[in-house]
Amino acid sequence: MDNLTDIGVIKDILSRHGFSFSKALGQNFLVNPTVCPRIAELGGAEKGVGAIEIGTGVGVLTHELAKRADKVVAIEIDSRLIPVLKETLGEHNNVTIINDDVMKLDLHKVIKEHFQGMDVVLCANLPYYITSPIIMMLLESRLPLKSITVMVQKEAGTRLCAEMGTREAGAVTAAVRYYSEPELLFNVSRGSFMPSPNVDSCVIKLNVHKDGGFKAADEEFFFKTVRGAFSQRRKNLLNSLSSSMGIEKAKVTEAVAAADISPNARPEQLSMEDFLRLAESLKQKM
Ligand code: SAM
Repeated sequence: MDNLTDIGVIKDILSRHGFSFSKALGQNFLVNPTVCPRIAELGGAEKGVGAIEIGTGVGVLTHELAKRADKVVAIEIDSRLIPVLKETLGEHNNVTIINDDVMKLDLHKVIKEHFQGMDVVLCANLPYYITSPIIMMLLESRLPLKSITVMVQKEAGTRLCAEMGTREAGAVTAAVRYYSEPELLFNVSRGSFMPSPNVDSCVIKLNVHKDGGFKAADEEFFFKTVRGAFSQRRKNLLNSLSSSMGIEKAKVTEAVAAADISPNARPEQLSMEDFLRLAESLKQKM
């Protein structure tokens, strides 16, 4: 259906199916007609490409993806929306709906089963209660995705797209940059949704590193170091690392010096290369 951003049409369909919005599932549906076509286009949904969507709602973005990509697999946790989607997406024979929690699904298997030999992109208007866990799961499981184009809360988007070495950087910034090159595509006002949330949003695109990107010798320890460094932002690096990782301050001091980092540095001043060297030298002190 083409008019899935029309509030009257949405209300009619949802009331016929006895549907009421769930705040807990982050159900804010897009009613601004310009947003989904832009997400689909900028997100790389096109001929020869397979698209995955997380959280269909009434299928407004699914419809735009299905018009452009060869195949779409859309994952929706709320079983009440499945009969709605049968109605709204009935015209498309290239859409598969999976009624499941994306955090519990084996996405490697999904990609193998549905997108053999195709480039795959992921596009979504993410449920806000679980934005970072979903993004981290997608990146950490090293899914064979070309890009991840998602709507997130504006503040989250700023952090996710921050440059390393700037005030906005946090542990999630380092994680995103480890796997991808992020870009901020455009902002979306709160009035573009029904019901309207209390915050504005933005659409970001994570271009997944083709060659796998940075490679820490021990990835788990690398991320532990990053999280430890950012765990107490008001403390300097030595104190944060020492208290959060349970390593004596003298040993942390030696490791920081061996990594050629100033003992007074704050975590947000460090580059990715600094963190990689720091994790290496800290590990040797364990
Ligand atoms: N794509 C639609 C749109 O733009 O109007 C809906 C977006 S709404 C912000 C988020 C959607 O994600 C809801 O339909 C919600 O039911 C679904 N959702 C929430 N948690 C989920 C999960 N863990 N796995 C899959 N879908 C989920």
